[in-house]
Amino acid sequence: MYDLIVIGGGAAGLFAALSAKAAHAKANVVLLEKSAVLLAKVRISGGGRCNVTHQCFDPTKLIQNYPRGGQELRGPFHRFQPQDTMQWFESRGAALKAEPDGRIFPVTDSSETIINTLLQEAKALQLEILMRQKIDKIEKTDQGFQVGPYTTRKLLLATGSASDGHAWAAQLGHTIEKPVPSLFTFNVPTSPLKELSGISHSPVELSIVGAPLVQKGALLITHFGFSGPAALKLSAWGAKIFHERQYKVPLSVDWLPDETIPKTFETLLQLKKTAPQKTLLAENPFKFSKNLWKTLLDNDKRLSDISQKELQAISQKLHADIYQIDGKTTHKEEFVTCGGVTLKEVNFKTMESKICPGLYFAGEILDIDGVTGGFNFQAAWTTGFIAGSSAMEGLN
Ligand SMILES: Cc1cc2nc3c(=O)[nH]c(=O)nc-3n(C[C@H](O)[C@H](O)[C@H](O)COP(=O)(O)OP(=O)(O)OC[C@H]3O[C@@H](n4cnc5c(N)ncnc54)[C@H](O)[C@@H]3O)c2cc1C
Repeated sequence: MYDLIVIGGGAAGLFAALSAKAAHAKANVVLLEKSAVLLAKVRISGGGRCNVTHQCFDPTKLIQNYPRGGQELRGPFHRFQPQDTMQWFESRGAALKAEPDGRIFPVTDSSETIINTLLQEAKALQLEILMRQKIDKIEKTDQGFQVGPYTTRKLLLATGSASDGHAWAAQLGHTIEKPVPSLFTFNVPTSPLKELSGISHSPVELSIVGAPLVQKGALLITHFGFSGPAALKLSAWGAKIFHERQYKVPLSVDWLPDETIPKTFETLLQLKKTAPQKTLLAENPFKFSKNLWKTLLDNDKRLSDISQKELQAISQKLHADIYQIDGKTTHKEEFVTCGGVTLKEVNFKTMESKICPGLYFAGEILDIDGVTGGFNFQAAWTTGFIAGSSAMEGLN
């Protein structure tokens, strides 16, 4: 009989199994992976560079990056947070670096470094790993669990967003929040800006018309519509709304979020007085990139020929420019599923089920997801660490 079976060889499952072995070297722990490869998502993550965590060491600030799960992660982040992740990898020879926006990558810029470090640790701790495991059935028994042909005292589910993990959790008594995609870019087929693909403007404030959701940051214009940090953050915080509305949503762009409409109008009015012979297009008072300003303004008149009413309309547009989102595109660098095992059914001090004793959860199988920037892996490392080490408590 095993002491612990971990199902799922992704970031959360492997880190949980390593944490279990580190807490109790003699424990009989096995990791079961369905596919032929471990850490498949780590390999492709961050465009192959693996954005392993984020340079944010204050748990109060850190939790603000999780549309779902932030409050629940507050306690766990006091026990294992980005600093601990960095220390874990660096002390095992994987040097890390922070980029100006706070994202942390291996200095090699290769996810291979992260994979090798985890696999070397598995070897050092003599972790048993079984690949290509097709578990058909899991049952609760008096001593623990029957997992396909294997018996175990404790069971840790770390199957990510896979439906079998959700089905097992449900069968063991858990409620599953409906899984829907998070972290996607917006398709705006009617956008007049599509020709400007590649231009980025920062900051903007994006909001869903009629919903109390606002996100500020850089906006990237793409061939399809919009991407960049502001769009990705809005897709994460609004994941459920977008899904409910089948990704057909009016989007409001405030191109000058640090100004107000009256202030913008005042600036334009002043310009009309001081430079009446110039065109507003050439003056470009808010320093937009030339082509973006030209498209947004769609006006090459001299300021003397632009009425106050027109200036009002321009001010209005610069602060509430409406685009119709119709569909989404997968963001290749990072995407996640929101939804999964309902958080109130899990004890975040141990990551053990409150419903089925001896059952633990880690990673994306839970209804936890972060915005882009390394927060999703951090949730996997943190919940994996706590679940794996807690599962060892009480073993002889
Ligand atoms: C393209 C892409 C890029 C990303 N880049 C980043 C990034 O740079 N930074 C970041 O923080 N996050 C990133 N993410 C998100 C991050 O990868 C996930 O949040 C993280 O991998 C979740 O880890 P996990 O172990 O919970 O799940 P997963 O990584 O999905 O692992 C689950 C494992 O369980 C296995 N499994 C499933 N069902 C079974 C079964 N029935 N039996 C046995 N095994 C099973 C799967 O094969 C898999 O190996 C990215 C995601 C994608 C898709």
